[in-house]
Amino acid sequence: MDGKRVIGVDLGGTKILAGIVDRDGRVGRRREHMTPVTSRDDLLAALDAAVEELLDDDIAAVGFGIPSPIDQRTGRAQQAVNIPLDESIDFRERMAERFGLPVGIENDANAATYAEFHFGAARDVQTMVMLTLGSGCGGGAVIDGKLYRGWAEFGHMVIVYEGLPCQGTCTGRGHLEPYVTGFAATKLAQEAFGPAVDAHRLVRLAQEGEPRAIEILDGIGRHLGAGIGTLVNIFNPELVVIGGGFAAAGDFILDPAREIVAREGLAGAGKRVRIVRAELGTAAGLIGAALVAFDALA
Ligand SMILES: [Zn+2]
Repeated sequence: MDGKRVIGVDLGGTKILAGIVDRDGRVGRRREHMTPVTSRDDLLAALDAAVEELLDDDIAAVGFGIPSPIDQRTGRAQQAVNIPLDESIDFRERMAERFGLPVGIENDANAATYAEFHFGAARDVQTMVMLTLGSGCGGGAVIDGKLYRGWAEFGHMVIVYEGLPCQGTCTGRGHLEPYVTGFAATKLAQEAFGPAVDAHRLVRLAQEGEPRAIEILDGIGRHLGAGIGTLVNIFNPELVVIGGGFAAAGDFILDPAREIVAREGLAGAGKRVRIVRAELGTAAGLIGAALVAFDALA
């Protein structure tokens, strides 16, 4: 128990990724399982099994990245959308008792942000924010070298008053999420090119020079820029990291975003901030969950 290795678990809506991670962010043995969504008991049983098959005497702690806002005071998931987990269970305490080890839990996008800060695109900065663009839009922030452990639901900041209805169970309107996700891009692509075209195909069309595809991505990038501009004016980050599957749109969305951010940022902050793509890909959630486990040791 020298605290050199922990187990990180990235709990997603479709997959559970679990792996042994050391203090340098190196991932050793790892396992992947389907996420059972039939019941809470089935989900907990699958998480127990995923951890227990990696557990040995050297493991010092376990960390979980969970797709839900987390209440760190109570150790509970507050609004998981696509997995059967809710506030009725003290998840952190349940897991600590089960494994007899310190357990840390964190929102999945916060965990990915932490990983990019330590080992990825943001390893040279002290203050950064991240947005993940997948089917939803998550976020996270590191401020003066410390992960912000509260809500960082940047996908749900209002960028358009009375704008588009939000995705999922969110009742809001004009939030960033329905303008910038891969899901949103697929919707716009299908309106323009028919039902067979999704966000990936839209990006490929833009790469082939299709002007309508470029225009759609430009519009998405401008909305993204409005959201980032607001984050710049709150946190004054040195770096903004864009992750998630739809970050594959790259400069087709980032260049228009940079243009808007340059305009919106106070005192030149919008011109100084760098906006880059994430580096750790799908491993970010797992590595971030492990970092949360190391923090639980402290
Ligand atoms: Zn929303």
